[in-house]
Amino acid sequence: MDCPFCGTEATPRALHSHLEAVHPEQVLVAESARGLVYKVTCPLCGAHHEQQVKGRAGTAAFALEHAREIRLVGFDMLVNHLVAEHAAGESTADTGPAVPEEER
Ligand SMILES: [Zn+2]
Ligand SMILES: [Zn+2]
Repeated sequence: MDCPFCGTEATPRALHSHLEAVHPEQVLVAESARGLVYKVTCPLCGAHHEQQVKGRAGTAAFALEHAREIRLVGFDMLVNHLVAEHAAGESTADTGPAVPEEER
């Protein structure tokens, strides 16, 4: 599959790392009335994904400290969406959790 932002070709797993390395700004972390949320927008279909950062994690200080982790979760969501919605017919053999828990 291709990176939806720059067209780089990658497996879903590699795409996840690519997004985090090259397009970190595509996951927005923002404070809302409900607390901290992260937002991802699919550049191909405009679908918005917004998810509240749960529990004690939902503070601005946490967001600053863990911005990278939050982005990784956001990109997980985007890659899953891209595979599910925009990769029809392509091999999905390399799917699965892009970032195994024990790796972090
Ligand atoms: Zn890219
Ligand atoms: Zn989409």
